[in-house]
Amino acid sequence: MFATHSRITNFTRGIADDVSSRVYLLAFAILFIAGHGLAGAIEPPSEANGPKDTTTPESPLAGAARLVKAYPEFLARMNGSNVLVWKDGTETAYDDGIPKADYQDVLDRASLKDQMSVEYPAGWPFVAPSKDFDPGRIRNGPFFLKMYGNSEAEVRKRLQAVQWATTSQKEGAVLFSSVNGAAAALERVGAEIAKLSPDARAYVANPIGTFSWRTIEGTRRLSPHSFGIAMDFQLPKGLTHYWKWESKESSQSGTYPAAVLEDQRLGQVVQAFEKHGFIWGGKWSHYDTMHFEFRPELFVREGRTNTE
Ligand SMILES: [Zn+2]
Repeated sequence: MFATHSRITNFTRGIADDVSSRVYLLAFAILFIAGHGLAGAIEPPSEANGPKDTTTPESPLAGAARLVKAYPEFLARMNGSNVLVWKDGTETAYDDGIPKADYQDVLDRASLKDQMSVEYPAGWPFVAPSKDFDPGRIRNGPFFLKMYGNSEAEVRKRLQAVQWATTSQKEGAVLFSSVNGAAAALERVGAEIAKLSPDARAYVANPIGTFSWRTIEGTRRLSPHSFGIAMDFQLPKGLTHYWKWESKESSQSGTYPAAVLEDQRLGQVVQAFEKHGFIWGGKWSHYDTMHFEFRPELFVREGRTNTE
């Protein structure tokens, strides 16, 4: 039952214990191949929604490089194989070298390397995720605090009103962070949604929350809503599912609501968000189908992002 846990911790330990020539050779080989246009050959199959296919091929350098590409406002470069240099001169270890006891521990104390350890499978159709496959749910809290604001007041200063075209709210606007182009990306999602059929547009006509400084229910971790980079919607009846409401145990996800994956309109909406750097919580085994979150680092591919 701890297949995912042991995979993640083994991977972490493997790198931490054995920063050897073998790792560097592998990293060099992957970068070399990627640089010569053969990257398609090493990409995991698109229907692989399980950790076994998503944690293996990437070198530590590649994950860190994706962060630098995704957050150019803040990150300057890598220094060596494990130090991220911020534009303000501060440095952060990519791999904190701390072995995590289990998946819960990874969530609670995620390093940046942990954050980048699970690929987000963009696109539709999507197959039901395997146990503990939660692409994008592993977050290094200090990383987001440093960029989006270290307190509720600091985050608030950076919020901007985004006109959500399909909103039924009287004010017609939602608050979203201006940092990292998040609000601008949300505006582009809105333009994308406007091109869909009225039936599909109606799916995201009722936003039920963006910015909210709070912890994730039942945890001490700050919710991504605290940073102004997440948006929830009241989806049509039968499509709203949150694992914690449907599970008796605190860490076990409920039965994945696979029926939502047959909803083509939902697929159109999800892809409109993904196109501009947003992940969907419905792709997590700890599912939250109402939840969309701006995470451009999970869409960086081969030296460019697909969020343009
Ligand atoms: Zn949410």
